[in-house]
Amino acid sequence: MIILKLGGSVITRKDSATPLLDHENLSRIAKEISDSSYDELIIVHGAGSFGHPYAKEYSIGEKIETEEELQKKKLGFCITQNSVKNLNSLVCENLREHGILAVSIQPSSFVVTKNKRIYHANLDLIKKYLDLGFVPVLYGDTVLDLDESIKMAILSGDQIINYLGEKLKPNRVILGSDVDGIYDKNPKKYPDAELVQVVTSSEDLESTEGTGTVDVTGGMGGKLKELLSLAEIGIESQILNAGHDNLVKKAINGEKGIGTLIKSKKK
Ligand code: ADP
Repeated sequence: MIILKLGGSVITRKDSATPLLDHENLSRIAKEISDSSYDELIIVHGAGSFGHPYAKEYSIGEKIETEEELQKKKLGFCITQNSVKNLNSLVCENLREHGILAVSIQPSSFVVTKNKRIYHANLDLIKKYLDLGFVPVLYGDTVLDLDESIKMAILSGDQIINYLGEKLKPNRVILGSDVDGIYDKNPKKYPDAELVQVVTSSEDLESTEGTGTVDVTGGMGGKLKELLSLAEIGIESQILNAGHDNLVKKAINGEKGIGTLIKSKKK
């Protein structure tokens, strides 16, 4: 089983203030997936400009103090949920046009968080889809949260990867982003940043700052935290640049040494 994440920075124009698809990247990646070989595949995609601008505008996930704030957040919840669902529709349609049996799985319809971490999610349906040869496609979404002071939260694609990894124990986890992997510092800010081949703990890095664009799920730092906790239970992952031709295809086909490998110290 392979779990593949397509970053919001790759399939959308992440710096756009309104939802904007990167159609060229999406189609190319869909073709690469359809040209590669795998047995079971789950795809998780980020929200990019379909989610972050709204999540930020309505500060979803922040403490709710008044009834007025609650009403405003509920509206923001609906708007964000619908927008990321639209992106998911475009992704699934594109995958299907390339011959991939993509089925949409809406996180907000079955995931509940507590203090912004997944508290409950029944994966039986996903397993059933996999058994039948479908490719389930999940995505960063707004979800209900059991913490009374926040009530609603943003569930990042990266946290979904962590949860699915832990529960389904895939053979490989591949993350496609808009950078070549993890650098010793943000490569978008520091031209002299150097790519790190293997990361076994957060101490390996000088800094993993936020993305510089609007990203309420913490950018590369948050991603790395999720992946390191997977590595601790023996599930390795690979971060690579999905903006470059054929890297997603090569990674699915099992090629090593592309991007950054995140693995446990013990191994
Ligand atoms: P995605 O949308 O692909 O899931 P994010 O935009 O959340 O990814 O995070 C990737 C971004 O994180 C990169 O575009 C880069 O600007 C930023 N970043 C910050 N620190 C680092 C680092 N040390 N190495 C690589 N990228 C970093």
